[in-house]
Amino acid sequence: MSLHTIELDFPEAIIEYPLAESDGAQLFWKLVYDLIPLCDILTEKGVAIAATFDKQVSCRAGCGVCCQQMVPLSPPEAALIADVVSRLPEKRRMEVLNTFSDAVSRLSEAGLLEPLLALYREGADAETVRELNRRYFALSIYCPFLVDGSCSIYPWRPSRCREYSVLSPSDLCSNPFNPGIRQLPLTVKMCESFSIEWSTLMNRPPEIIPLVYALEWVETNLSTVSLEIPEKDVEKVKRRILERVCARANEIARERMKTP
Ligand code: SF4
Repeated sequence: MSLHTIELDFPEAIIEYPLAESDGAQLFWKLVYDLIPLCDILTEKGVAIAATFDKQVSCRAGCGVCCQQMVPLSPPEAALIADVVSRLPEKRRMEVLNTFSDAVSRLSEAGLLEPLLALYREGADAETVRELNRRYFALSIYCPFLVDGSCSIYPWRPSRCREYSVLSPSDLCSNPFNPGIRQLPLTVKMCESFSIEWSTLMNRPPEIIPLVYALEWVETNLSTVSLEIPEKDVEKVKRRILERVCARANEIARERMKTP
């Protein structure tokens, strides 16, 4: 299998990203496995830049407070999560399935599920998003994959988890809405670009799915799991997603420069 690369000019660094040549048609959601490591590369670059300003990431194994927040997934990442769960050993799988189911019931009872699902489809201002996130956090719904304060699916965690690191003292994180919290200011938003590509291929509005709703969402959207990209288009689709991630990152950087 030969390797092509794509040059991506991110605000953090220029990245030569490898694009493995496809040897056949590929399921769309599986492109996540090829493209999501970009988040880790950019996080590494961001950490190195922060270090030049004497700033260190304060996130530590065993903390996990951020795993009590709403984790947004693109449709292919929801399929990835369903795949990860399906491969768990039986006993663990049953525990995780129960935790997912409990979380969805609690979101529904609190009247939060529908507004969260409509958030991206219908658009919302920053204050509405913040308020929904605040209500979600208040429910203390921990991610079903959090075990003893650490991520039990670390190599397969979604893009948003990879893009989130904190530079401020970790004791401030007990309230994620504390204005003193300083995140590593990365510009990568991979979830959004996956969602837009999915919507183009499916001819549907883009969607963002709360992680705890991933399994139910996949069950009612099985066409996402079976969406196949013909061999001749696989590299084109990967390039399109990566170029969109990069363009959006530069847009975010420009917006930040305008903000005093
Ligand atoms: S997937 Fe892992 S890192 Fe992400 S919220 Fe869940 S436990 Fe935390």
